[in-house]
Amino acid sequence: MTEFLFSQQVLAWFDKHGRKNLPWQQNKTRYSVWISEIMLQQTQVKTVIPYFEAFMARFPNVVALADAPVDEVLHMWTGLGYYARARNLHKAAVMVKQQHGGDIPNTFEQVLELPGIGRSTAAAILSLADNQPYVILDGNVKRVLARYFAVDGWPGNKKIEDKMWAMAQSLAPTDRHGDYTQVMMDLGATLCTRSKPKCEACPVSSHCLAFVQGRQVELPHKKPKQAIPTKQTYMLIPMYQGSVLLKKRPATGIWGGLWGFVEADEETLETMLLNIACADIPRQSMEAFRHTFSHFHLEISPILLPLSHPPTQSVQEDTVMWYNIAQRSEVGLAAPTVKILKQIQTDYL
Ligand code: SF4
Repeated sequence: MTEFLFSQQVLAWFDKHGRKNLPWQQNKTRYSVWISEIMLQQTQVKTVIPYFEAFMARFPNVVALADAPVDEVLHMWTGLGYYARARNLHKAAVMVKQQHGGDIPNTFEQVLELPGIGRSTAAAILSLADNQPYVILDGNVKRVLARYFAVDGWPGNKKIEDKMWAMAQSLAPTDRHGDYTQVMMDLGATLCTRSKPKCEACPVSSHCLAFVQGRQVELPHKKPKQAIPTKQTYMLIPMYQGSVLLKKRPATGIWGGLWGFVEADEETLETMLLNIACADIPRQSMEAFRHTFSHFHLEISPILLPLSHPPTQSVQEDTVMWYNIAQRSEVGLAAPTVKILKQIQTDYL
């Protein structure tokens, strides 16, 4: 099969079977494509749909996003995870407003300069929204290419990745660039799935090396395993009349800019407890649970401190707040915070 035919085959398949009714495929603009592409990183389509719709209703254009407080953007992101994505979206929107008059630029180099936008996302925005001739290489496309060309090695490795960019480019069509980007995503999401790919329905199976060699299950090769460490933290939850004390986390690092509970480790636990509540306040240990990041596990032990009067220590309004569990202020919350609040509402209110 020539390279030209690969794109022809997949585009013909797209016309019959491709996804065309997703919310971000309607009235496409660089803005709507950008938001959907960022949300779809690390997150499944069915999870993204309600978030995308709510986000677009609240921030219908890039200026509305730039003008919103970052706390509100994080609030709309609560539950999607990987919050750096939301902080970068906001930062990029401010840049677009200040440097490009509120219009997302239409050149690859300028789009690539925006925070949180890498080569593949820039290509997706410009090809999907403007039919510009760029190819993508996201996780789905890497899987398709790793199988189609029977690529040995982990696709996250820089050398392998560079090789795959060249492969992706070699298959690019001469027109219908937006549809081609879409079909490459669709192939990976619906046919060339991680487990049990549907090769019998695949338009390129006759030339797919993994299929011909029976190596679909083996490819793409997995990331070489590294043991990740486990850390321990206590989350301290002073509660007074249905409200809990939350603290804003620093802008960088895990859960950056989100609101969470005061934390302590084994060494600082007693001092922190005494700082927050008197020695005679009852301490209720809630169910411990594990939260896993890409580079470590965090064992979380929440301790509820039901106060009979508010603590006397001073609180800085901008970094500490009493959060009413029933009323739910519009702020971004870290995933474990949401989990613990739900547990308090069910078991302790
Ligand atoms: S034939 Fe199978 S393994 Fe090859 S690209 Fe198609 S779905 Fe993927």
